[in-house]
Amino acid sequence: MKITQKLENSHREPGAPATFSFEFFTPKTSQGVQNLYDRMDRMYGLSPQFIDITWNAGGRLSSLTTEMIHTAQTVLGLESCMHLTCTNMSVEVIDNALKDAYDAGCENILALRGDPPIDGTESTGDFAYAKDLIAHIRKRYGDHFCIGVAAYPEGHPEEHDVVKTIEYLKEKQDVGGDFIVTQMFYDVDRFIAWCEKCREAGITIPIIPGIMPISSYASFLRRAKWSEINIPAEFLERLEPFKDDDELVRDEGTKLVVEMCSKLLASGYVNHLHFYTMNLEKASMMILEQLNLIELNVSTQDQPWRKSLNPNRL
Ligand code: FAD
Repeated sequence: MKITQKLENSHREPGAPATFSFEFFTPKTSQGVQNLYDRMDRMYGLSPQFIDITWNAGGRLSSLTTEMIHTAQTVLGLESCMHLTCTNMSVEVIDNALKDAYDAGCENILALRGDPPIDGTESTGDFAYAKDLIAHIRKRYGDHFCIGVAAYPEGHPEEHDVVKTIEYLKEKQDVGGDFIVTQMFYDVDRFIAWCEKCREAGITIPIIPGIMPISSYASFLRRAKWSEINIPAEFLERLEPFKDDDELVRDEGTKLVVEMCSKLLASGYVNHLHFYTMNLEKASMMILEQLNLIELNVSTQDQPWRKSLNPNRL
């Protein structure tokens, strides 16, 4: 089923609980793939609305993405969304990936440009921007796929002018984008102000915030720096005292992210949370549990996350 349809069904009743989804990336080893399937199977019990699998720009490990989408959709029974980039990709490779997704019964694509090669060489490929890929998917498949697009509430590393990035985002909606998934962020006030600007600019499709759990102080700082996002002073003040103890950082980080999600959900712009799991389950679970969106089944020691309160699984 299309993600937009699932979201609409889940939020038809006023006051319906927030829904959520999980992002996974393609592991490098076959053992890693098996471990991830086991994890995805456990996380099925939490009733995510969908899961998505990242794509390696340039096509490396890309066949693994389509293979994992096939397994998630047809074997594990998870509604899936395939990331697809167009940097360094020929139309032929893109079309093969779309066909694999279609054949697997996947109805959701997150259409991305991808990052240019890190060695500074010009990227090759038949499309310059994500909007060109979106237009191509629409041309080939009509309305079969529900198409998600990426957005950057604090600007993109190649374009810091947020007004311009909103104009480009509107173009992605206008050529066929159905929903937005954002870059990670910790500054909720900036995010809410950005949502307001998007709506003023005529962007009407659902906005799904990308939530990055905090699991260690070093990775928290590294990811924020890499994504070029603001870290509110409160995050540093509350995490810094525990910086050498990962468990305490995760506990305090969970509280901070829970406060952040509560504020997001209260803003009226958001009713769905998308977790960057980094292929781990505990940090996302702790957040969802503290938000009362799942209940842990303490009596089931081997599968502690199986029981879900969320009535929205379809
Ligand atoms: P675009 O929307 O094409 O934008 C790319 C750049 O061009 C931006 O700076 C934008 O401001 C600018 N731009 C856009 N339109 C125009 C225009 N008309 N004229 C001039 N400039 C323009 N990368 C991966 O490799 N694999 C993944 O699976 C993956 N998943 C992601 C998931 C999410 C939710 C997000 C937020 C990012 C993800 N990325 C992934 C990273 C993404 O590929 C990079 O951030 C990439 O640099 C931009 O992709 P885009 O789709 O936003 O590109």
